[in-house]
Amino acid sequence: MQAPGKNIHDHKRDIVHIGKMMYERRFIVAGDGNISVRISEEFILTTPTALCKGMLSPDQIVKIDLAGKVLEGEYQPSSEIKMHLAVYHTRPDIKAVVHAHPPISTGFAVAGIPLDQLILAEMVVNFGTIPIAPYHPPSTVELANVVAEKVRCYDAVLMANHGVMTIGPDVYTAYHRLEMVEQFAVINLVAHVLGKMTTFSQQQLRDLITIREQLGIGAQNPYHRQCPLPGQTESVHNPPSSSEYEMPSHLPDMETLVKIITQTIMSILR
Ligand SMILES: [Zn+2]
Repeated sequence: MQAPGKNIHDHKRDIVHIGKMMYERRFIVAGDGNISVRISEEFILTTPTALCKGMLSPDQIVKIDLAGKVLEGEYQPSSEIKMHLAVYHTRPDIKAVVHAHPPISTGFAVAGIPLDQLILAEMVVNFGTIPIAPYHPPSTVELANVVAEKVRCYDAVLMANHGVMTIGPDVYTAYHRLEMVEQFAVINLVAHVLGKMTTFSQQQLRDLITIREQLGIGAQNPYHRQCPLPGQTESVHNPPSSSEYEMPSHLPDMETLVKIITQTIMSILR
């Protein structure tokens, strides 16, 4: 649900704030990434193309219609706005879309490894799993179509050889989902480096799915009932799959291990 009582200026300030957080956390650099908010049935606010999203001011936010036509603002929206529009057309419950290139989760997207490992309760409850949309060049209709296809069942999508998109009922939820995806990717990578990944049993998984249903997560999504349950994800049938994500047969030596994990964490905290 969009926060009640927010006017267009509040939404512009929210977008500027989130751009700044994305930049400070290194989910984006330079002119990367884009953010949009559906403020009504007809109108969308979005970030301008090319400018650094960490250094925006509210007057640089662009107002467009659902066809992408600029209605207000000196700037053009990102050419990646096609993906956002495709999401809004697909999911009437979605009011905000965030796209960035967070380094660890984008690394998984480059490696062709979906974040579908059933290893963290919060991730199963909140996301189910996180698939990869197949590669198409940025800004193309083909990319918009494959991302829209994935968001029918998922609130976060890795984009092969590109980045991450998260969506939500408001822009802060969409942004927090981006943080959670990156955090999950880090934990996943650390467990992988440590050489052991303990996955949930079938019963544990059923319990988590029950919690997800009791909390009504995903229930606003009109495709909700048609979507695979966690553990039955389409990526199981449809490569690339995490089955390619082989654990190392032995632990690296302790010095190497500490170095890898430290570098990983430092790259995020810097
Ligand atoms: Zn991008």
